[in-house]
Amino acid sequence: MLKKNVSLKNYNTFGVNVNAKQMYEIQNIKDLQSLFEEGIISNPFLVLGDGSNILFTKDFDGTIIKINLHGKKILEDTDKYIKLKISAGEKLEEIVKWTVENNLIGIQNLALIPGTIGATPIQNVGAYGVEIKDVLESVEFFDLKNGIVKTISGLDCEFGYRDSIFKHELKGLAIVTSITIKLEKYKQQELPERYLAYGDITKELESQYSKPYTLENLYQSICNIRKSKLPDVKEYGSCGSTFQNPIVSLEQYIEIKKKYESIPSFPTSERNFVKIPAAYILEKLGWKNRRVGKCGTWTHPLIVTNYDNASPKDILDVIEQIQKDFYDNIGVRLETEINII
Ligand SMILES: Cc1cc2nc3c(=O)[nH]c(=O)nc-3n(C[C@H](O)[C@H](O)[C@H](O)COP(=O)(O)OP(=O)(O)OC[C@H]3O[C@@H](n4cnc5c(N)ncnc54)[C@H](O)[C@@H]3O)c2cc1C
Repeated sequence: MLKKNVSLKNYNTFGVNVNAKQMYEIQNIKDLQSLFEEGIISNPFLVLGDGSNILFTKDFDGTIIKINLHGKKILEDTDKYIKLKISAGEKLEEIVKWTVENNLIGIQNLALIPGTIGATPIQNVGAYGVEIKDVLESVEFFDLKNGIVKTISGLDCEFGYRDSIFKHELKGLAIVTSITIKLEKYKQQELPERYLAYGDITKELESQYSKPYTLENLYQSICNIRKSKLPDVKEYGSCGSTFQNPIVSLEQYIEIKKKYESIPSFPTSERNFVKIPAAYILEKLGWKNRRVGKCGTWTHPLIVTNYDNASPKDILDVIEQIQKDFYDNIGVRLETEINII
C-alpha cells in the first residue's frame, strides 16, 4: 500500500514530527518483489519496523519500506525444544509473552523491548544477559542485490555487542523477512543460572516470589525491573539506551579507574578489552534525570528522553552535548546505539 507525504510522528518512538516523501507498507514477500522489480527500492530508502531505534533528524526525502509481514510457524517440535519461524513484522514483546505462556525458555529476558522481530538481528537485540543471537538459528532476508529471498545461518551473522553483518557487509542490501529461533521446553526445573546472573533479577525474584521460581516469575521480574527504570514510550519519547557502553582496552580501563576507582568492567569476546558502563560516568557528570529544554535524560542517564515535543535538533543537541562531556572527561568516544537518519 502506497502513502504519499506521510507524517512519521506515530512511526518513531522518539515521537519527532517529520514527514517522509512516500511509504509502502509490505504485507507479503510478493509486495517486496514488485517494488524491487519496479525499481522503487532504490536510494534513498529506509526499512522501518516500529521506529524504536531511529532518530529522524529531518524530513525523509525518499521511500519508507514499512514491514508488516505477520505470522509464526513451528517448524520442529521435539521433547526438548521447538524451532519457531517468525515473520519480521511481529512484535518482539508479543512473541516473548507467547513463549513464556507456552513454557519455552530462551527469550524471556528480552521482555518489554519495543520493536519488531525483523529488527532483532540488525543490532543483535539484547537485555539482562540474553541476546537474540543466543537462540537464533537463521535469518531469512530479501536480497536487494538480485531480488531473491535468501537464508543466512545465525552463526554467519557475525553477531557482536549491538552489532551484526546487517550493519556492515549487508547494510542496505538485506530486508529481513523472518527469523527462526530455537527454544528449550522448560520442564519446571531450577531456572538456569545464566538467566539470573544480570543486575537485580535475583533480588527481584526473591522479593516477589517464592521458590521454585517459574518461567512466568522470571518474565514478570524483568518486566518489573524495566518498568521501574525505563520511560513508557506512550508517555515519553525515547529509543531506550541512546548510547552503547564503550569497549576499552585494559590500559584505558586502568587510566579510567584512576579517576573512577569503583567503576565496574565486563568481559568482552576480545582479549584485553572490557566493556564499561557509560551510565556510571554520565551519572557522575550530572546526566541523570537532567532536563535541557524540551528534552534531556531519564533517571537512567543513557536514555535520552523527549519530555515535551522536542524537535530532532533539540534531541541531537543533547546527544552531542553528552558525547562531548564524556569524551572531555575520559577521552573515550560514546557511540550511539540508535540509528540517526
Ligand atoms: C523504551 C525502549 C527500551 C529499549 N530497550 C532495548 C533493550 O533493552 N535492548 C535492545 O537491544 N534494544 C532496546 N531498545 C531499542 C529497540 O527497541 C530495538 O533496537 C528494536 O529491535 C528496534 O525494533 P524496531 O522494529 O522498532 O526497529 P526500527 O527502529 O524501525 O529500525 C531499527 C533499524 O533496523 C532496521 N530494520 C528494521 N526492520 C528491518 C527489517 N525487517 N529488515 C532490515 N532492516 C530492518 C532499520 O532500517 C533501522 O536501521 C529499546 C527501545 C525503547 C524505546
